[in-house]
Amino acid sequence: MVVLGIESTAHTASVGIVDERAEVLGLASDMYRPPKGGIHPREAANHHVELLPGLVERALESARVRPSEIDAVAFAQGPGLGPCLRAGATVARMLSLAWSKPLVPVNHCVAHVEIARVLSGLDDPLLLYASGGNTQVIAYARGRYRVLGETLDIGIGNFLDKLWIELGGVFPGGPAIEKEALAGQELWPLPYSVHGMDVAFSGMLTATLALHAKGAARPDLAYSVEVTAYSMLTEITERALAHRGHGAVVLGGGVACNERLKSMVRAMVEGRGGTMYAPPRSLCVDNGAMIAWTGHLAHRAGREVPVEASAVEPRQRTDLVATPWRGN
Ligand code: AMP
Ligand code: MG
Repeated sequence: MVVLGIESTAHTASVGIVDERAEVLGLASDMYRPPKGGIHPREAANHHVELLPGLVERALESARVRPSEIDAVAFAQGPGLGPCLRAGATVARMLSLAWSKPLVPVNHCVAHVEIARVLSGLDDPLLLYASGGNTQVIAYARGRYRVLGETLDIGIGNFLDKLWIELGGVFPGGPAIEKEALAGQELWPLPYSVHGMDVAFSGMLTATLALHAKGAARPDLAYSVEVTAYSMLTEITERALAHRGHGAVVLGGGVACNERLKSMVRAMVEGRGGTMYAPPRSLCVDNGAMIAWTGHLAHRAGREVPVEASAVEPRQRTDLVATPWRGN
């Protein structure tokens, strides 16, 4: 079975094609980069509308697959930015109708877990999902993926992006802060906001900008922010792991590509006798292959929707989405 998947929840438009063994046959992605400031949903959506048809062609070409060989079309139904989601869903509906293939809605967060799960071979891992708009610890329990902990204000990536722009840089901030932090030497004390298994970042944003205004060096601030924010994420992941009693952790999201975060989480997990897995960058960031793979799992379990019932759900809750392929 070959499934084509479309991802368009935020700034990335991506088309992936996978087979029944989770082999990624084709993957074509393009990220919207705002000329200045943060992401504007409508401009990102325009980018997706313009690029998706070409990305579909590129993915098909690199997969050497003809439309007639596609068995289903999957798309990210939510959560995400409304205009961006609608751009991807529209293309998916069109392909489904034009090719007469079933249409399969997929939850974006579940897709991050499922691609890491199949790539790692770990049966029941916990996901630390650290991306632009999302910061969550997710695990499967009693028939659903459950959000055990999450950010109480902004996503970690949005926090890093906003901070970096305020410090004079350009989007995306996460990778730039990672580079800048390598030259950091002084660890400034910053608000460490962990509340049970939840975190918050806006206090750290304010405090870092206040230190910068007082003359603290940017590399030191980058270093301090990374150490503090990633310690918070490691702590909530550890708390969730302790509750579950067994220790496999997978990573997902753009921020999860960060080397410092990966090594901190790895040290914590391995210290508890568990296993940590991070997908390669192209499958860790938002991508169409994870939507295609989860679409495959869902379709095999009987899931498909008529076009009339395929509305996007910008606030779709991960723990309300059925995952029949995981059984009970
Ligand atoms: P996503 O929302 O999953 O597509 O990821 C995008 C976010 O990941 C943006 O906020 C980026 O700043 C962030 N990001 C990408 N690479 C890194 C990195 N190496 N370290 C930290 N953040 C990163
Ligand atoms: Mg994502």
